[in-house]
Amino acid sequence: MKTLKYLFDRNLAWANAIKEENPGFFEALSKQQDPEYLWIGCSDSRVPANQIVNLPPGEVFVHRNIANVVVHTDLNCLSVIQFAVEVIKVKHIIVCGHYGCGGIKAAMENHEHGLIDNWLRHIKDVVRFNAEKLEGLEFDDRHDLLCELNVIEQVANVCNTTTVQRAWKNGAELSVHGWIYSIRNGIIKDLDMCITSNEQLTKKKVQE
Ligand SMILES: [Zn+2]
Repeated sequence: MKTLKYLFDRNLAWANAIKEENPGFFEALSKQQDPEYLWIGCSDSRVPANQIVNLPPGEVFVHRNIANVVVHTDLNCLSVIQFAVEVIKVKHIIVCGHYGCGGIKAAMENHEHGLIDNWLRHIKDVVRFNAEKLEGLEFDDRHDLLCELNVIEQVANVCNTTTVQRAWKNGAELSVHGWIYSIRNGIIKDLDMCITSNEQLTKKKVQE
């Protein structure tokens, strides 16, 4: 039976290196997690949450799916948001998209991809909502802009979840951020989308 020994070897080396530097690291972490951040990102293997913000285990609560989409009927994502906000009490929810996203690109194409087309429908909705902004652009520029517009749309979706609405109503300090990562240079860009209340959400939507 193949057991992926290579990965077990790497795991052991990784755990030993951490213990060498900080002997109590895993023991302390095993007692509780207290992350300040919920990361909602793409499943793409090139965009690993902890690594690109250089934070160790225990610092980021993570949800990833294809093209970092937040859908109001997705019990998986909604449960992550509820648990993160109400139980772990994170202070920040970060939606981080990335340029060159294959999911976004697939949504821009007109041929069939199978089951995933149902998921990509949500991104086609983002195209429809922003048709004017995307019109007339070359494919690559349209792709980049759609990656950004998708993040902005998903930030609004996070803000409109019952969990975030309830948290704000109860006076919780909770910010929702929109970021985008470049797989070409490893740098994250803030999309100037930081929402901390319903008033701000409405203002942003009006400005757009
Ligand atoms: Zn992606």
